[in-house]
Amino acid sequence: MAIFSKKSKDIEPFEKKTDFPEGVWVKCNNCSGIIYRKEVVRNAFVCPKCDYGFRIAARDRIAMLIDENKYDELFSELLSVDVLNFKDSKRYKDRIKTYDEIYPKQEAILFVQGRMGGIDVILGAMEFGYMGGSMGSVVGEKIARAAELAVDRDLPLIIVSASGGARMQEGAISLMQMAKVSAALARLDEAGLPYISILTDPTTGGVTASYAMLGDLNVAEPKSLIGFAGPRVIQQTIKEDLPPGFQRAEFLLEKGMLDIVIERKNMKKTLVMLLKFMVDQPA
Ligand SMILES: [Zn+2]
Repeated sequence: MAIFSKKSKDIEPFEKKTDFPEGVWVKCNNCSGIIYRKEVVRNAFVCPKCDYGFRIAARDRIAMLIDENKYDELFSELLSVDVLNFKDSKRYKDRIKTYDEIYPKQEAILFVQGRMGGIDVILGAMEFGYMGGSMGSVVGEKIARAAELAVDRDLPLIIVSASGGARMQEGAISLMQMAKVSAALARLDEAGLPYISILTDPTTGGVTASYAMLGDLNVAEPKSLIGFAGPRVIQQTIKEDLPPGFQRAEFLLEKGMLDIVIERKNMKKTLVMLLKFMVDQPA
């Protein structure tokens, strides 16, 4: 797997945009182990102690999956506007401006068309660093367009999720995206084209409640946090202790909410194998 033996300097320009911590040592979000940072980078941003996949930038994710990292970017003209004139601790307008400078023409999801193991695909990767990968009108519109383009071009669709859920700064407009993307994915399904959803750490809220769980195959990375409401809210509502490993990928797999958990280093080759079963593209 040549893509995983990339020197760390190849990843450096993108890596700065993730919330992957700086410094010589990093702490694992899952096992709390203290690990030498370079060792994690060399290991495709995976904890060598527990296989937890650290959050990575959308472009790093695409580099790990698309052949030779060659692709066409899609829908990069779509950028958020502040229609509600919303203000919390900051103006939404100012938040968008800041993030658009860090992630130009990208928003919280980046879509590309490229090849995986020689198979043409449309691939979307969410950017957790962009407002927690929250789903606003742009994320919803891009996913709907991606599903429509997949139908037009007769291609499979793959989306890698990493999101805290709906974008509260867009209020009901962000919630409406859940229905819109679900309808677009239903049209993809009617066209008989596969949709593979990859859930990474974290995938929660309105994203879990819509496209992340609608895959023909719902795939997750090990130890990823996946859920709708947070554990504290659930615990306070049902007034019961939650079982160990609750809302982690392995627990959801056991309960039948996921189809497969794949380690990051095996992700591409497993997806290619699955795609070969599901699509019939001329060589
Ligand atoms: Zn760990």
